[in-house]
Amino acid sequence: GRSVHQIQSGQVIVDLCSVVKELVENSLDAGATSIEVRFKNNGLESIEVQDNGQGIAPENFETVALKHHTSKLSTYDDLETLQTFGFRGEALSSLCALSEFHVITARAQDAPKASRLDFEVSGKLKHTSIVAGQKGTLVVVGNLFHNLPVRRRELEKTIKREYGKVLGLLHAYACISVNVKFTVSNQMAKGRKAIVFSTKSNPSTRENIANVFGAKTLTALVPLNLTLEMQPTNRPSQKWTARKGKRIEEVLVSGHVSRPVFGEGRQTPDRQMFFVNSRPCGLPQIAKVFNEVYKTFNVTQSPFVFADFRMDTSAYDVNVSPDKRTILLHDQNALLETLKESL
Ligand code: ADP
Ligand code: MG
Repeated sequence: GRSVHQIQSGQVIVDLCSVVKELVENSLDAGATSIEVRFKNNGLESIEVQDNGQGIAPENFETVALKHHTSKLSTYDDLETLQTFGFRGEALSSLCALSEFHVITARAQDAPKASRLDFEVSGKLKHTSIVAGQKGTLVVVGNLFHNLPVRRRELEKTIKREYGKVLGLLHAYACISVNVKFTVSNQMAKGRKAIVFSTKSNPSTRENIANVFGAKTLTALVPLNLTLEMQPTNRPSQKWTARKGKRIEEVLVSGHVSRPVFGEGRQTPDRQMFFVNSRPCGLPQIAKVFNEVYKTFNVTQSPFVFADFRMDTSAYDVNVSPDKRTILLHDQNALLETLKESL
């Protein structure tokens, strides 16, 4: 039967997007300036993430994939001010339980040698060996859900859509991450490895967007720069007052939006990417505000939106769902009202 570990892992890693999200965030947390994501057969066969970050220290080999082992959280108070993406130590342990998983890591630039780490299903270190490798970390996730037949079949059935979603997520990471080079490739069973998209190590999100969506996209974009001062008349929600004494006073919104286009011909891709403190996240209510405002211009096309909302880390909760994909803005109503007024 299924172990408790397997079941819990299946709540952290629910699909292809969770795998890629966890691995890319680990690479960013490790200070990587180059991240390569390689899919085989749309990710059905394997997903590999290679970074040039700080690598894993040998003294952590035993514990990296153990549940709730993390190198990122030292005190409980850190939860409030956390700047890194990870903090629960669940991703690697879950991937051990759900895939054919190994890691190759090296800390030193000059060493042609890296360590390959193989784990048991439980996350316990099984075996280490010296292999060729470069500075940084390579994480290999093979045959995702191979030991959960129903999930695996579901993944096989929906893989095209899942792969599309995962590319959307990678677009978001590649656009928001300045000075980080992204390369995404896919290799189909009989085909060659094909580069899906790549960015250079750009100093601005504008250049990242040009790399991902084409330079032509830029001509249709205008900068988005708003300072949202929360009006005291915009009452905080019940939930907010109940939870905390302090509410957010200021939210900085920065990014790029398409100019309203009238008539025929779309100049920008139909894409909307939202971030809270540079963390990609779905904000459907906020997307609705943008779409509604554009409708008032009598524009039929929904706008291209790339918007990062900077606010106090105590203003939201990333901890509400195990996969950390849902962000709960405590003061969402006030934010929506103020945003609508300022657009
Ligand atoms: P978390 O990110 O919450 O700490 P994970 O299970 O994602 O938990 O990772 C466990 C630990 O493995 C991290 O705390 C980190 O020390 C190490 N690690 C994982 N991925 C990488 C990476 N790409 N580069 C360096 N260290 C990594
Ligand atoms: Mg992590």
